Amino acid sequence: MATPFIDLTSQYLRNKKNFDSAVLRVLAHGQYIQGPEVRELESKLADYIGVKHALAVSSGTDALVLPLMTKNLSASDAIFTTPFTFFASAESISLAGATPVFVDIDPLTYNIDPVDLKAKIESTLAGGKLAPRGIIPVDLFGLAADYKVINDIATKYDLFVLEDAAQSFGAKYHDNKAGGLASVAATSFYPAKPLGCYGDGGAVFTNDTNLFDELVSLRVHGQATSGDKYDNIRIGMNARMDTIQAAVLLEKLKLYDNELQERSRVAASYTAKLKGALITPTIPSNQNSVWAQYSVQSPQRDLIRKKLGDQGIPTAIFYPIPIHLSTAYKHLGYNHGDFPVSEATAQQIFSLPMHPYLAEKEIQQICKLVVSVIDDASGSSA
Ligand SMILES: *Cc1c(COP(=O)(O)O)cnc(C)c1O
Repeated sequence: MATPFIDLTSQYLRNKKNFDSAVLRVLAHGQYIQGPEVRELESKLADYIGVKHALAVSSGTDALVLPLMTKNLSASDAIFTTPFTFFASAESISLAGATPVFVDIDPLTYNIDPVDLKAKIESTLAGGKLAPRGIIPVDLFGLAADYKVINDIATKYDLFVLEDAAQSFGAKYHDNKAGGLASVAATSFYPAKPLGCYGDGGAVFTNDTNLFDELVSLRVHGQATSGDKYDNIRIGMNARMDTIQAAVLLEKLKLYDNELQERSRVAASYTAKLKGALITPTIPSNQNSVWAQYSVQSPQRDLIRKKLGDQGIPTAIFYPIPIHLSTAYKHLGYNHGDFPVSEATAQQIFSLPMHPYLAEKEIQQICKLVVSVIDDASGSSA
């Protein structure tokens, strides 16, 4: 019995007729670019998150870059984010011409630490080389960062906040949903994300109508959104979502709430069986996670992964190299030890299989193996 890390095939087979006919409808009507499904998806996504506007785009990375392009950034502008995230969170800052300034994470939630955020804004101001402009908090593994505190800090220092909701689409944070927790947000529909399409895709969310109009223009080469569309009024990109991906997402969105319940079931079962044996996820009160990953920490990580791998159970490490230590950012001059929480977490963290179709029997088998490695290790060291 092979347990997939993320089971996209089960999801497809269970709903095959709906997915097939959604895609075939697009093939038949022929509007492969900016077809009617794109508009319909945008309206449904905005309703789901509870914001005025959603813009469907080509990827989560482009969903981060487009709002940054509206900020007229230069290399002397500092944008704060964490080094313990997928590379695109920082890369988007560089693509938009600004400089990433890293902030350590909270050891329990793995999200940006508001205390260190304040410290890094202050030290950037004191350094006099970079001007603080914005913050990109990441909602890691499906759990929103602490936006009440972050938005207050942003107001105090006059910074914009761009929510990286690539892993957290729809996660609950007090009375709101991830994707709607900052003035602008980006999500990804990469197949392995909680809401994924059958290729690349992403979306930007905002309540700001002026910003939205600018994003609509940037998505298609900076074209004028009223008047002569052959007049390009700014430098933009090709960042459109294909109609086929929108059609797939309309079908997946119908399944999403139910799938989130199933993800919660899997997470709760893992936590009940693993609590005490290793460090299980912490979910703050008034929040829930959409469980993009179920990540745990153990000093016996490598042994556990080997034992699971031998039994055909895949695991993954998100993220083995904190971004400040990546080759691409050598020029920023960071060193080992600069972000102790991110670096320590990277040494011990790993993720277990997580998808809505994981059976209780499989969870039991996985947890039994994990616990046996930890028992053996503590037995031999005692
Ligand atoms: C996946 C991801 C992205 C990028 O999304 P793509 O659709 O792959 O471009 C950005 N940020 C985070 C945190 C992600 O997990």
